[in-house]
Amino acid sequence: MANTVRGLLPAQQATLDAIRTPAEHRPAYPAGFANELRNDAESALNRLVDAARNIDSRGLWVAKRDLAGVFGCEARYVADADMPFEWSVPTARGTVLHKAVELSTHRRFEPEDAVDAALERLVADDDNLGGFLAEASDGERADLTANCVALLARFGETFPPMQRAWRPAAEVRARARLCGGAFVLNGKYDLTLGSPSPLGGPDRLQRAGKVIIDLKTGSRTPTDPEDLRFYALVETLSVGVPPLGVGSFYVAEGRIEHETVTAEVLNSALRRTIDGIGRLISLRTDRREPRRVPGPPCRWCPISVDCGPGQEWLSDPDD
Ligand code: SF4
Repeated sequence: MANTVRGLLPAQQATLDAIRTPAEHRPAYPAGFANELRNDAESALNRLVDAARNIDSRGLWVAKRDLAGVFGCEARYVADADMPFEWSVPTARGTVLHKAVELSTHRRFEPEDAVDAALERLVADDDNLGGFLAEASDGERADLTANCVALLARFGETFPPMQRAWRPAAEVRARARLCGGAFVLNGKYDLTLGSPSPLGGPDRLQRAGKVIIDLKTGSRTPTDPEDLRFYALVETLSVGVPPLGVGSFYVAEGRIEHETVTAEVLNSALRRTIDGIGRLISLRTDRREPRRVPGPPCRWCPISVDCGPGQEWLSDPDD
């Protein structure tokens, strides 16, 4: 990413300062770095290959929400997975905003026009969300548009305008297959800026250059940093070069929490992912009661009415 952009608002400048790293300070990794990480992952996961294939012969797909689920309240994770998902104005808001940001990375739009174009594109996709949007009442559609226009305007005032040289990309799908496809680490980045570049030399060094950003339209959650470290791991295993940094951008706050990616960050993400895969498999095969871990998520839990520990926590959340 280029380091200078003229005429930024203070919040835009703060965001840019948080995510930019001068080229000479960016880490470079030898060409074999990602392979070593892959070997470590596959050595640790080999013992779980049969169990994973028994769950799904096409491979066990693992996303950030699966890991957050098994490291949080397992009972809620299982209940959420069993609930049929229904689109609504609040659940559609993030996807519409991401689409509007995606369209805005390649062309200058006023927020209203970007949101209108995003809605049009999503309806044309003809999937579940497209069906919901096509059949939404005038009130729901106006509510969704107003919400997303406000968020996009906020985003525009607090995130630096996209520069073509940054190579912005939105809604980027990424996958890393491990152990011959027995495990598939799956990610979808809301936004990426920059790209790695080869430096050459005897080690065929690769200089990190990409920043992966999650756009958050809701509140902060304790797993946000771990979610992004998982994405750093997926990126390294799939592209072969670690990203330069990862960050959660909280749209309502207009603030980014950025972390520089290092070998230690990736090793920590790898250990958590291996541990989480073991927990996922145990949860699906051990025929045991899912653990209940009361806490703030009880407030939005679909089974809280019938959950003793949850009701106890909800009756006195400060205790
Ligand atoms: S109410 Fe709380 S403890 Fe109970 S299942 Fe839901 S999140 Fe877990």
